[in-house]
Amino acid sequence: MSTDIEPREHTELRAAVSALGRRHGPGFDRAALWAEAGKLGYLGVNLPEEYGGGGGGMAELSIVLEEAGAAGAPLLMMVVSPAICGTVISRFGTGEQKAAWLPGLADGSRTMAFGITEPDAGSNSHRITTTATRTEDGWVLNGRKVFVSGVDIADATLIVGRTSDARTGNLKACLFIVPRDTPGFGRRHIEMELDADEKQFELTLDDVHLPADALVGDEDAGLLQLFAGLNPERIMTAAFAIGMGRFALDRAVAYAKERQVWKAPIGAHQAIAHPLAQAHVELELARLMMRKAATLYDAGDDLGAGEAANMAKYAAAEACVRAVDTAVHTLGGNGLTKEFGLARLVTASRVARIAPVSREMILNFVATHTLGLPKSY
Ligand SMILES: Cc1cc2nc3c(=O)[nH]c(=O)nc-3n(C[C@H](O)[C@H](O)[C@H](O)COP(=O)(O)OP(=O)(O)OC[C@H]3O[C@@H](n4cnc5c(N)ncnc54)[C@H](O)[C@@H]3O)c2cc1C
Repeated sequence: MSTDIEPREHTELRAAVSALGRRHGPGFDRAALWAEAGKLGYLGVNLPEEYGGGGGGMAELSIVLEEAGAAGAPLLMMVVSPAICGTVISRFGTGEQKAAWLPGLADGSRTMAFGITEPDAGSNSHRITTTATRTEDGWVLNGRKVFVSGVDIADATLIVGRTSDARTGNLKACLFIVPRDTPGFGRRHIEMELDADEKQFELTLDDVHLPADALVGDEDAGLLQLFAGLNPERIMTAAFAIGMGRFALDRAVAYAKERQVWKAPIGAHQAIAHPLAQAHVELELARLMMRKAATLYDAGDDLGAGEAANMAKYAAAEACVRAVDTAVHTLGGNGLTKEFGLARLVTASRVARIAPVSREMILNFVATHTLGLPKSY
């Protein structure tokens, strides 16, 4: 892909992560790549330097995930651990919380998952019912979460709840750090049709007692703190999707140049070449939108970043789904073999269309907030 409008440091970061990703490559050992990327400072490029991070922002972190994915070695937990949890703790955590978590999140020695989705709330986060009740020395949490990624490998999960005095109505979100082995914090593995190392879990919070300092930020700050984490999540999901789309497209282009069943390689047929070219254009466009979202976010424009991050996630997911579909078709029968490893991306490419916010909810957002149309739900 052309990278000419990027600052030189970004191009260099891209090249370095790409080389690391290729060294690990498809079929990679997730934990080994995570550890090495952490040691090299890539997992914490967005976190403050005083806590061991790189002092950059989402522009840099999204490059890391995109390039790892484009090399066939995506690190899903980057969407959650440094991007959501690292950002929220950096921006709203106490000095103690920052000192306790950020150095480990930055060098990859600690990981944090993120749980907001609930079985009865789904896309409607205002309906979440995980409730925090104040005790003499802290909090008790009760509730259920679903589809939470990586809880088994994370040291803790950042759980989104609401306080018992704000049990109904629009969500006034509170964020709690729940260590993995806290009594009452149960998990059940949900079997997914996804060929990925990171697992999804249903969580039960059954009288989970937490100290007062488990709460990150202000219990009255509401959605502001939550969105400080959700916009990075959308930007990183875009990076995940663009990386996967590029990986699939690269493989298909290489195949189309080599495979010959008539006089010329199959890539000489426009029926094969045009969809590949279209996939490339769409991935480049999505990447531009992702860059806009990251730039606005890093500049502190949370509102502008929100709209751009939604659009980038939408564009990247759609581009990824089409790139993978095109790639599989380009390879004919080999598109479905284990050897070429593209068919497994068919389900994986759908993840970004569904999570963390579905395609339809983004269209709802754009229709209502950008275009000013009446809210439909
Ligand atoms: C692989 C994977 C990993 C995940 N990891 C995490 C994680 O780490 N942490 C976490 O908290 N969550 C996670 N999720 C959950 C994810 O964020 C949710 O699946 C997503 O938000 C959609 O919620 P839902 O599945 O309940 O779908 P629903 O809300 O039930 O939606 C179902 C369908 O209805 C549509 N729909 C709903 N409302 C409307 C409307 N008003 N207008 C039009 N269409 C509508 C949706 O677009 C969707 O197509 C993960 C999901 C997956 C698949």
